[in-house]
Amino acid sequence: MPALHSLPSNKALLLSAIQTLARSRSARSTKSLPPPIESLRRGDWVKLICGASFEDVADVRNLSLVYTLAGVDCIDCAADASVVNAVNEGINVAQSISTINRPWVMISVNDDRQDLHFRKAEFDPEECPPDCPRPCQAICPAEAISLKLVQEINGTGTSTSCSKLEGGVITERCYGCGRCFSVCPFDRIRPMTYVRDPIITRNLLERDDVDVLEIHTSGRGTDLFSELWASLGDSIGHTKLVAVSLPYVGETTLGLMNQLFSIMQSRPPLYNLWQLDGRPMSGDIGRGATKQAISYAIHLASTHNRPHGFYQLAGGTNSHTVECLKKEGLFCTRAGTGRDALIGGIAYGGYARKIVGKVLRKVLMQSSHVRIEDHPEHLLEALVEALALVDPVKSFQRSKLKTPKSKSIDGLPQNPSLVQGDTDRQRKTPRERMGMEAGGGGEEGGAEMMVEPSSKDLQQQSKALDKLTDRVVDDRQLDSSRVQEAMASLASSKEADWNAMRLREKELAAVKINQVDVDIIANELELDKKVAERTLREHKGDAVAAIRYFLR
Ligand code: SF4
Ligand code: SF4
Repeated sequence: MPALHSLPSNKALLLSAIQTLARSRSARSTKSLPPPIESLRRGDWVKLICGASFEDVADVRNLSLVYTLAGVDCIDCAADASVVNAVNEGINVAQSISTINRPWVMISVNDDRQDLHFRKAEFDPEECPPDCPRPCQAICPAEAISLKLVQEINGTGTSTSCSKLEGGVITERCYGCGRCFSVCPFDRIRPMTYVRDPIITRNLLERDDVDVLEIHTSGRGTDLFSELWASLGDSIGHTKLVAVSLPYVGETTLGLMNQLFSIMQSRPPLYNLWQLDGRPMSGDIGRGATKQAISYAIHLASTHNRPHGFYQLAGGTNSHTVECLKKEGLFCTRAGTGRDALIGGIAYGGYARKIVGKVLRKVLMQSSHVRIEDHPEHLLEALVEALALVDPVKSFQRSKLKTPKSKSIDGLPQNPSLVQGDTDRQRKTPRERMGMEAGGGGEEGGAEMMVEPSSKDLQQQSKALDKLTDRVVDDRQLDSSRVQEAMASLASSKEADWNAMRLREKELAAVKINQVDVDIIANELELDKKVAERTLREHKGDAVAAIRYFLR
């Protein structure tokens, strides 16, 4: 990955760098299946989530452009015609820049008002105390709250000594994350929930530039899902894949999935995808946010009566997700004796938007032009950010195809037949497992270009495996105690995490800071003002300590 300070400044060179980076990531199809399905089968599918409620068309367009260049398989957006147009415009511009695969366009809808992705924040700024420090504005990850203090005008049109707040929530930017609700010291902010209109959904599905439908369901029953499925009628026949997104709802999760699958059999989709929604809209918060999605995957991997279809992680996914999946032996790992990956891939939302969004904000600060392709230096910077997220998923497969003898991070050879989730095989010692593979008893299928290792390679790999301790072997087993732990973690961590986060945000909001300090830190260290402000709060308003933190 090039260091940003070493990027070329000449526009032609910049464009050439963008084209080269994008072209090198465009997957070549090796089978007759659509490339996104091949990605799901291999386990290296990547989806960009623009946000089921995020409707800022300028940002959606630019995000779609950047992540298409980065090689995502699918772009998930709000079920709204103008948003779908924006996604397609971004994809078209990306394809005019470089010869790359077209990602599928997915629209997200819901069957009830319980799913957190389908809500907006709402408040009347006139009800806010004018001297409120506005923690809602500071915490919003989407810059969806805009407030300013103005003097009140009296009946004769002149300013009074009283002031009030003006502005409020920028509805199209709010994606319902809920962080502002808990930090408002006066409880002024309300969630406004909604359900997408099935008639609009049907019309969108009939368009040629919409490929996939995703239905979010809260897991509280199947009646509303059934109703929605019936109302979508023949429009389902226009989809290339139907995804269902649902949270972990305890022991009943799998039974519920199987019921949903049965409902869909009235009009069976070409392909099914299950989105395991860990901790919704939290990927940008930090490393720990990905834990719930991983626990969900571990639970699914341990069960045998999973419904048919591909599985994908979402909710809290970020730059740590691949590493966590690898640790659990679930990354690009095939399901039992099947040909397909157990976990088909990863969907990135808040984190993906955050890393590219900071570049988009720079473009907006420089000019009113919001077409990122008019600013190649920023387009390249945004692409580098996007690739840092997409490449770890995609490049695993690429290196596997080209260098079958290379080793993965933890020292295990990257031969898919050595990392399958079959419990019996995992009980074998590394050498026994190598013996199984050498005897030709591996699974069928796999990557088309996979080269069988020679006996010398196998010996070397066997030695490498022997160096691993028994603990490593044990760690890779999905034994029942780990599954129990994962389930317990799912049940308890969500509430505790949110409570801790709420408490922390309230504490930070109460810290008194000097706005001049924020400006100085942001300007001198070339930081986003939000980052400067938050760090200042985290250091109890001590500007010197905050600056030291950045310079350490
Ligand atoms: S719900 Fe989230 S995105 Fe919407 S205004 Fe509040 S903090 Fe911002
Ligand atoms: S934190 Fe609450 S009271 Fe303060 S500006 Fe925001 S909505 Fe208004």
